[in-house]
Amino acid sequence: MTETSTIQTTCPYCGVGCGMDISPKPEKNSRSNKLAGFEVKVIGSEFHPANFGKLCVKGSSAGETVDFDGRMLNPQVNGEVVSWDSALSTVADKFRSVIDEHGSDAVAFYVSGQLLTEDYYVANKLIKGFLGTANIDTNSRLCMASAVVGYKRAFGSDTVPCSYEDLEQAELIVFVGSNAAWAHPIVYQRIAAEKRRRPDMKIVVVDPRKTATCDIADLHLNLKPGTDAVLFNGLLAQLSKSPALNQGYINAHTEGFADAIAKAVERQGTIEKVAEQCELSVEDLSQFYNWVIENDKMVSLYSQGVNQSSSGVDKSNAIINCHLATGRIGKEGMGPFSITGQPNAMGGREVGGLANQLAAHMDFNKPESIDKVARFWKAENMAQENGLKAIDMFNAVADKKIKAIWIMNTNPVVSMPDADAVKKALQDCEMVVVSDCMQNTDTTQVADVLFPALTWGETDGSVTNSDRTISRQRKFMQGPENARADWWIMTQVAHKLGLADKFQYESAADIFREHAALSGFENDGSRDFDISLLENMTDGEYSSMQPFQWPLTADKRHGTKRMFEDNYFFTPSGKAQFIAITPKAPVHPTTKEYPFILNTGRVRDQWHTMTRTAKTAKLMAHTDEPYVMVHPADATDNKLMEGELAKVENELGLVIARVRIDRGQRKGSLFVPIHWTAQYASHGRVDVLVQPVGDPLSGQPESKHSPVKIAPY
Ligand code: SF4
Repeated sequence: MTETSTIQTTCPYCGVGCGMDISPKPEKNSRSNKLAGFEVKVIGSEFHPANFGKLCVKGSSAGETVDFDGRMLNPQVNGEVVSWDSALSTVADKFRSVIDEHGSDAVAFYVSGQLLTEDYYVANKLIKGFLGTANIDTNSRLCMASAVVGYKRAFGSDTVPCSYEDLEQAELIVFVGSNAAWAHPIVYQRIAAEKRRRPDMKIVVVDPRKTATCDIADLHLNLKPGTDAVLFNGLLAQLSKSPALNQGYINAHTEGFADAIAKAVERQGTIEKVAEQCELSVEDLSQFYNWVIENDKMVSLYSQGVNQSSSGVDKSNAIINCHLATGRIGKEGMGPFSITGQPNAMGGREVGGLANQLAAHMDFNKPESIDKVARFWKAENMAQENGLKAIDMFNAVADKKIKAIWIMNTNPVVSMPDADAVKKALQDCEMVVVSDCMQNTDTTQVADVLFPALTWGETDGSVTNSDRTISRQRKFMQGPENARADWWIMTQVAHKLGLADKFQYESAADIFREHAALSGFENDGSRDFDISLLENMTDGEYSSMQPFQWPLTADKRHGTKRMFEDNYFFTPSGKAQFIAITPKAPVHPTTKEYPFILNTGRVRDQWHTMTRTAKTAKLMAHTDEPYVMVHPADATDNKLMEGELAKVENELGLVIARVRIDRGQRKGSLFVPIHWTAQYASHGRVDVLVQPVGDPLSGQPESKHSPVKIAPY
């Protein structure tokens, strides 16, 4: 970057995926970036389709985080700084010896939705194609795995049907388990602006908690935690008796309606039954159902409140069923829209970054797909079946079945359920390798080998946001001298393992071309993800690549705004599938000893485990310590005072947090944010309290429903 140039990149934070223009900041200001040599100014990219020039407070502060404070600067083995060659050999030798002695499934990678697609691609290829195991999972498992399985059950593919602009064309938006005002601020602001422009537009928020998103809501349904499937099964039952039912669409383009409706009517056939089960008023529920019946253009925008559940897949299918019953999909202003948390959760899925995927949206359930990927990679030791999902993977580390694990750009000692057990498992593991840009995280503390990684602004690649838009992240500054791109680190380990001819990458562009080629490899149209038109792009074309929505096809050479416009689905019959839903209660009910339900989530101005956002005083000013949100009646009953400390605990652990008394909190439930690490609050890691149970289909943990007790500290 020169003194005057502007570089377009993408925000490092949430799945909205806002475009940014970065330029040098010549004027003096309060933060000094001595090592990097200059400071940067960040503004929203006017032409990026996610944000059209806008940024939220996190994004607009990103320029204040590009110093080298706290960065990991050198490779280290057992606490000693070593050469790259030595660190790479240590890892390659250990992985080789573990595989030789105990088999391929004794090693694992745990990666991140923060990784760029190119990094993700190399990780997936190395472990699935050449180490012989699919033991690669990602922190995206904690974020959107249930939505993925929901889409696949309904559409035969992991396809987000909508575009952000559908939100501005809708007559009714139903936020389900989403505090978009804080977690996806620019999407929320786009909706809020449209609501100001068209006050008749209806907004409903389905959430046990009254969040900031309710500020624009016409109706807030503070349902009993865990009853979302009841609510949408009930909606399906009501739709079946209404003029909104689109029998023509159902007959022509779907299968399974009769079973789904029978189940819904049997269990949730009357509004009174649903109101009772969801603990809502009949009046509010009737209002919601009537608005759905009356407004054809409806988008359901759902997120972690749906996904982070032991029945998250069923919940997402209960929502999708209602869209299929009304034919509200594949058209302007409508569709079931899962919005992902991380900047590249979707890009990771495209290259197969989950333990139960292959690559390019192929799966292990078809032998011909395994063979196809193996032939494309010329793989010598191709994995043949699904690997372990996150919870099971760390259990296998604890059981010493996994003896070497490589963790990339994520902090599971803070973010995994039962986080103290994860910490102990890693402490006892034979080899823990961590690639990270920061030296001191809760997870680097338990590592044997550390690889210093380049981070946002220092390396090139691409990311995919929540509406399938692929955007470039571009390098605009030099990173620390001895840090390296993640794809480079993995490539060098591959070389040490004797795989140099299979990992001949000189740049991110080389990897992107291969990824694009695989997406089209023997793709007869049965796979949704296809960007193979880009497989021969030049370095210059990659460098200047503009945002587009996949798939790219001969007739949609600039991308595909909306999926399923042709009513073709990627199922064997080509028809969308209704899924009959029997709502299930969360795995762990409250008890006399642990009478409160712990709900976890984000605060507005922090990101994940705070490694970047904690550098910014402005962001810390919003919330500078962990808190527990309590309903006033619960505070009185438990002698809790506003602003004083409370201990929240269960059999797994203890969290100490500042009490905030809030009428928007549902009685009997508590909310504690996810961000705090031991570095910032000694007892602030809320995931030590989260039960390690997940949805049996998606493996996504139930992070919204752990029984706890609370008392003054
Ligand atoms: Fe970044 Fe998300 Fe904010 Fe956009 S909404 S600026 S992607 S954090």
